[in-house]
Amino acid sequence: MRPMRGYLNNLVGCVAALVMAAMPLGTAHAADLHDARVWAGPSYTRLVLDARGPLNYTISQSGGQVVVDLRDTRLTGGFAEPEAQGLYQGMSHSRRGDHLKLVARVAPDSRLKSFMLKPVHGTDYRLVLDLYPAGNASTPRSSRRHGHVSKEAIASSREAAALLKAERKVVVCIDPGHGGKDSGAIGPGGTMEKNVTLAVGRDLAALINRQPGMKAVLTRNGDYYVPLKQRYEIARENKADLFVSIHADSYTSDDAKGSSVWVLSPRGKTSEAARVLADRENADLIGGTTLDGMDDSLAKVVLDLQQSWAIQASDVVARNVLKDLARLGPTHRGYVEKANFVVLRSPDVPSILVETAFISNPTEERKLRNPAHQEKLALAVMKGVKSYFESTPPQGTWFAAQAARREGGQLAAASGDAGHAVSRADTTVRDRHRVGRGESLSSIARHYGVSVGALKSANQMDNNTIRAGSVLMIPAS
Ligand SMILES: [Zn+2]
Repeated sequence: MRPMRGYLNNLVGCVAALVMAAMPLGTAHAADLHDARVWAGPSYTRLVLDARGPLNYTISQSGGQVVVDLRDTRLTGGFAEPEAQGLYQGMSHSRRGDHLKLVARVAPDSRLKSFMLKPVHGTDYRLVLDLYPAGNASTPRSSRRHGHVSKEAIASSREAAALLKAERKVVVCIDPGHGGKDSGAIGPGGTMEKNVTLAVGRDLAALINRQPGMKAVLTRNGDYYVPLKQRYEIARENKADLFVSIHADSYTSDDAKGSSVWVLSPRGKTSEAARVLADRENADLIGGTTLDGMDDSLAKVVLDLQQSWAIQASDVVARNVLKDLARLGPTHRGYVEKANFVVLRSPDVPSILVETAFISNPTEERKLRNPAHQEKLALAVMKGVKSYFESTPPQGTWFAAQAARREGGQLAAASGDAGHAVSRADTTVRDRHRVGRGESLSSIARHYGVSVGALKSANQMDNNTIRAGSVLMIPAS
């Protein structure tokens, strides 16, 4: 019986494997479209569609419309249509049956060239649409078949190449406080906090989605209640780089005024640590690792490191945001405040809570219900948040790549110290070269077999002057 049972088990295993392999084809979609990015350069505009899984697509252009028809493709929740740039003027999408149709509006006489990049590893496919202005000499005559990538189409400039590297956007989770049955504080004029927070939150999301390298997720986008714990869980599920909760303050005396920014207190940190450690077999990954199976002291150390990092980062963001809010109006106190707010308890997502103003103060209440002022508040918060990502870019993001590009440029411009800082994120750099006496840009280009143009673009130079002792980045191709 034993061999027989073994045989049966194997058979059952095979059938199960077959069923599982067949399921994605039979029941659902082949690919998830999760992002779209645009880069507009002097010679062409590049639109990149990022997908998990291979795209089954056809592309057609008719005047100012480029239609991308995608079969068995799903648009994920985080997908945002990019803002108009260069020859690209916007996008809309619709669905019919298993077809997803993206319609990009482009400059009417632009010429289109497209190709798909297959993943080097993993499942990240990219569909690239390059738009050339009418009569541009560099436009290829015959359009190539899909899947074949011509050399000149890729990496004719650093930014365009960077776009192909799928630098991810930072994700900001925006939490409009209260909602539904919970109206929050109510002003003397009847203004409900829940409506102010939603309006400011939506403005903030729209602003963030318009920034390069940034993407917003809202914990609620309507008048309904979301439990507090669920709010920060939404941030963690979306792998947010930052959580921003929006509120309006109130006080018994109606002359209290000004905005304030809050981070988690040490007590909040301690109680959350105790909760996570007590229930760690059920806890989600903390900073990308599981605490389950670690001994107590190690789990404590790992958790404490994550929490300390998140709290420190929260503090930096909070100070930036407070500074930008102070340009708009009074602040309640001149410093970042601390409290044990439930929504700020993510152990590994920097989190802040913004009290936009006192809704209990009649003057501030009037401002809070004014859409123009709501937008100004959103702008101030966005600026503070953005400056945080500029100064502390998370790894693998567009901000990190920007920082590396800046660093590369500075390194090339400065004479001397070649001992550190090879441009981190920019893998297109093959080598570095310290300029010797008597060398020229063209002699160096010849030496490495690259064009002078590529050399200049890799070092963000706009003239041919080089100084002996300075360091040049040598591009890979
Ligand atoms: Zn509130």
